[in-house]
Parts: sequence; structure tokens; C-alpha cells
Amino acid sequence: MRCPCCSGLAYENCCGPVHATQNAASPEQLMRSRYSAYALKKWAYLLATWHSSTRPAELQDDNSQWLKLVIHHSDNHTVEFSAYFKDGVQYGLLHEISNFAQENTHWTYVDGTCKVSNFKPERNDECLCGSGKKFKKCCGAA
Ligand SMILES: [Zn+2]
Ligand SMILES: [Zn+2]
Repeated sequence: MRCPCCSGLAYENCCGPVHATQNAASPEQLMRSRYSAYALKKWAYLLATWHSSTRPAELQDDNSQWLKLVIHHSDNHTVEFSAYFKDGVQYGLLHEISNFAQENTHWTYVDGTCKVSNFKPERNDECLCGSGKKFKKCCGAA
């Protein structure tokens, strides 16, 4: 399967090994792997890669479908990205600047500044689900 993080690589050559080892090489790789973990509902991985100072006690399963990730900028401690999701019939766009730090020599997610806005795909846009079809002929079909 193609990796959910939109790298264009196969899952086995992208976020799969990071999920297995829980050891990302950089903040961007960790961020991608955490996005993929949300998409695949790997809650244990998300908790394991959360900095102990900000980690929630548990994560609730939810119905969000994560459709597309775009990384705008990344450096040694932060990653700025946009993530498109669908929650029931509503589409949304999460824009976040996430902060990362190392803990026990592993990269972890600390916190982030995020903004969620409404988003509606255009009918003639390529569908966000990656099918290659137009939105109106795919997930946007009535
Ligand atoms: Zn990936
Ligand atoms: Zn679609």
C-alpha cells in the first residue's frame, strides 16, 4: 500500500519501519509517521512518540479520515504542515506548526500551534483520497 503520509513511497519503505522501531531520524520523519499513525489509527505509536511532559493519558478513537498531508517547512525542531481530513460529511483543513524534542535519544512530539478551518474540495479537483479521479466522480459523488 502507498504510505498515508503522501510521500509517494510504499508504506514498507516509508513510515512502516518508523512505526516498527519507534525511532524517527528527524522531526519531519516523526511528523510524517505520526500523521500516518493517525490515518491508520495506531494510537499506541502516537502515545509512545509523545514527549512525556505533554503526553495525554489516552487517545480516543475517532471517525476522522486523514486524506492528505502537505509539509510546508521543517527544521531541527519544528514542522509546519497542512493536513486535510473528513469528519463524517464535513471536510476540514488543519494547519499546524508542531514542536519536537528528543527524549531518551528518540524524537518526540511536544506540542503545536494549530488552526482548523473549513475546507470544501472543488468539484473538478483531483480527489484528495488519491484515486486520481475528479472529486465529483469519487468521494464527492452525490
Ligand atoms: Zn510515510
Ligand atoms: Zn476520492
